[in-house]
Amino acid sequence: MIYGVFSDVHSNVEAFDVVLDYFKDLGVDGYICCGDLVGYGPQPNEVVERVRALSNAYVICGNHDLAAIGRLEVEWFNPYARAAALWTRERLSEASRGYLGGLAAKLEADGFTLAHGTPRRPPEEYLLSSAQFRANIELVRRWPLFVGHSHMPLCFRVRKDAKGGVESLLLEASQTVEAARGPDGGRAPTAFNPGSVGQPRDQDSRACCAVFDSEELTFRIARLEYDVAAVQSKIREAGLPEFLALRLAFGQ
Ligand code: ZN
Repeated sequence: MIYGVFSDVHSNVEAFDVVLDYFKDLGVDGYICCGDLVGYGPQPNEVVERVRALSNAYVICGNHDLAAIGRLEVEWFNPYARAAALWTRERLSEASRGYLGGLAAKLEADGFTLAHGTPRRPPEEYLLSSAQFRANIELVRRWPLFVGHSHMPLCFRVRKDAKGGVESLLLEASQTVEAARGPDGGRAPTAFNPGSVGQPRDQDSRACCAVFDSEELTFRIARLEYDVAAVQSKIREAGLPEFLALRLAFGQ
């Protein structure tokens, strides 16, 4: 099976439509979404509608989705995220609210696991270091693990050559990585992060997503140009913080 993998769309329809077209052209068999459909951006309901319409999709919620439906306090959010969360809360339709409310923060599927941040603390913890990856290994039964949250395309995997060693990779456009395998050829601990569709933070402003081949266990990153200026205009028209428009152009 070929899966289109994406995360952190953050109410950015311009970026999401380009990503969905890319997956459609590839003829993917299904989708893996690691959460944060809404927050930051100007079109939350439109993004939720598009995700709901996907068939064979594994979808979890992120911290911004929970904040938008009032299930997570926004006090610890930075001022921009907090303003956007409250703005989103007022504008979500009943249908969007119901859909987001029905999503789990962690999901075990047939042959892989999803968690927005980490399996240990799904909505909050960022998976950014080898030590964190190691600390979460015991909590996963089905590899690979797919995460989002950091808005960075990353791979963590146990090394073949050194006992207990973990490799961490920041992935570039078109880079393909393979999940780790044990001595018997079985699946070994590996985490993949497809980066962020709607608000990349690795100094590359292009939308980020990935393609996962569940037989070959390969994960390939794609970077796609989209109309950043159009989203910036919508953010300004919506009265959302100016910084949320500016950061999209820098990929930060
Ligand atoms: Zn996010």
